[in-house]
Amino acid sequence: MSVPPKFVAVPALDLKSQYQSIREEIDPVVRRVIESQMFIQGAEVAQLEAEVAEYCGASFGIGCASGTDALLLPLMAMEIGPGDEVITTPYTFFATAGSIWRTGARPVFVDIEPETYNIDPSQIEAAITERTKAIIPVHLYGQSADMDAIDAIADRHGLFVLEDAAQAIGAGYQGRRAGVLGQVAAFSFYPSKNLGGFGDGGMMTTDDPALARKLARLRVHGMEPKYHHQEVGINSRLDALQAAILRVKLRHLNAWTEGRRAAAGRYNRLFGEMGLDGFATLPIERPGHHHVYNQYVIRVPAESRDGLRAHLSADQVGTEIYYPIPLHLQNCFTAMDHRPGDFPVAEAAARETIALPMYPELTEVQQAHVVGSIRAFVEARGADHSAGEKAA
Ligand SMILES: *Cc1c(COP(=O)(O)O)cnc(C)c1O
Repeated sequence: MSVPPKFVAVPALDLKSQYQSIREEIDPVVRRVIESQMFIQGAEVAQLEAEVAEYCGASFGIGCASGTDALLLPLMAMEIGPGDEVITTPYTFFATAGSIWRTGARPVFVDIEPETYNIDPSQIEAAITERTKAIIPVHLYGQSADMDAIDAIADRHGLFVLEDAAQAIGAGYQGRRAGVLGQVAAFSFYPSKNLGGFGDGGMMTTDDPALARKLARLRVHGMEPKYHHQEVGINSRLDALQAAILRVKLRHLNAWTEGRRAAAGRYNRLFGEMGLDGFATLPIERPGHHHVYNQYVIRVPAESRDGLRAHLSADQVGTEIYYPIPLHLQNCFTAMDHRPGDFPVAEAAARETIALPMYPELTEVQQAHVVGSIRAFVEARGADHSAGEKAA
């Protein structure tokens, strides 16, 4: 017997079903770490570092406490600080710009491309000054930024490129993976990321041995060897429990990524079948890219967005807005003196986008419920319109 669609709840994120599918593998490794009572760094962390580096095609992986620290530590390693500028996108999670600010440097924003929501390389050069030291492109929602164009600009101006790959582990670009598309990359193991731990965690990847060594030192207060401090670092260690869990999950990552890509394909088909491609702009995968769909984000008319979200919520469909306020308009950055209109593409995205439920375990029945609910919203709106026209 089929379940009436209105009783199909579709949460924005569903981590429990993933845990259920692998608990036989996870529980013993958690027990193993507990029995060992070795919680900080150690062999599990070293193995995860090697495995993530290999997965990305990088020479070195350096674990740390979060994706945020994985952005901060490379900036510290490059000795970026007061008086310096770092170019990035205003349309990202706060940590990208927050980590620049923490060093004392100034984030310099460059608007995004409307189709991918990633930084627009054609606008970067105009933002470069003699103070510019680095570019942080973000691979937003799981699709790589246009790295050939960005790396070419960085080469011309002698800039350092730090990939914010927090949402993009496994994302492909011209046959390579995120993690080797700049000098260094930052990954996050926050639970909602494609490779999520049972708490916070992060990783940096690089091919540069000197940089790898410095990053490994900076995460333990600049200490090398023990109790000899070469520079002032921070405490940003990855713990062994997270590493052990992540090592199990990494073995499933490619299958989960295929699950996400299949789910994205089903959304695309359902939007077409239900005649909604005029109402919603769907995410695109650029040629030469391998999108890993950390999020499936659609764009709808701004005046419909919040109403659609409420309608979906009433139909038990969870959604999220990534991101409602672009970073140049955040309260903490008022000193930068930005105004609405400074980055119009990012501002439009903040008004028009909505992230639909996306995880590898999503079923066709759930997705049909999501898209069916959107169709019902659009049809009701159409009826309102014609009622209004008749009355006029
Ligand atoms: C999640 C995320 C981060 C920060 O990662 P944490 O592990 O939460 O510190 C940074 N940048 C982007 C784009 C992210 O999505």
